[in-house]
Amino acid sequence: MRIGIFGGTFDPPHLGHLLVASDAVEQLGLDRLVLVPAAAQPLKARSGTPAEARLAMVRRLVGDDPRFLVDPIEIERGGLSFTVETLQALGARWPGATLYLLVGADVLPSFPRWHEPARIRQLATLVILTRAGADGAAAPAAPPGLPGGAPVFLPTRRVDVSSTEVRARLAAGRSIRGFVPESVADHIRSAGLYR
Ligand code: ATP
Repeated sequence: MRIGIFGGTFDPPHLGHLLVASDAVEQLGLDRLVLVPAAAQPLKARSGTPAEARLAMVRRLVGDDPRFLVDPIEIERGGLSFTVETLQALGARWPGATLYLLVGADVLPSFPRWHEPARIRQLATLVILTRAGADGAAAPAAPPGLPGGAPVFLPTRRVDVSSTEVRARLAAGRSIRGFVPESVADHIRSAGLYR
């Protein structure tokens, strides 16, 4: 079994996340990709959106697509979300599986400061998502201090959407049509999020 793990704040989840997830399944030949919304990310400012709402939106993002699973493991554990603990738990759930940890190129520089980076590299193959630009920008260099063997660089399509932009558009009363699936937009509307 080849299991991918895609963590994030998902505040809110958007089409960039979905397309990257789909690219990863295809390019890595994954049996499943597990999306793991963080409870609280140690290196990121605290999210104001309740974890349960982010979890509900990630579930809506993937719908009933059998390629994906949504795992509330970090939200149920609560506290700071340490990736090493999540990998240990998922490794125990799929004994013998090869785990691929998807990490955006934007968060790569902070990787050496994560909790137990060397252990993370033992538990999973690090997959660095590079947003392949139309200009064919080269893959970023792995930062010095990155323990373990060479990470895999995964070129993914360039989708210029971020949660920050979706939140800003909602706060300004602008449409988010096309930025998130309708099912996610419905949840944002009915729960009155990001106003
Ligand atoms: P924010 O704007 O709040 O920082 P975000 O849109 O980057 O959020 P996160 O939940 O932080 O979303 O992202 C989780 C993971 O998804 C990260 O590894 C990030 O690099 C990746 N990611 C986010 N948006 C995109 C996108 N448009 N294309 C490819 N990868 C993305």
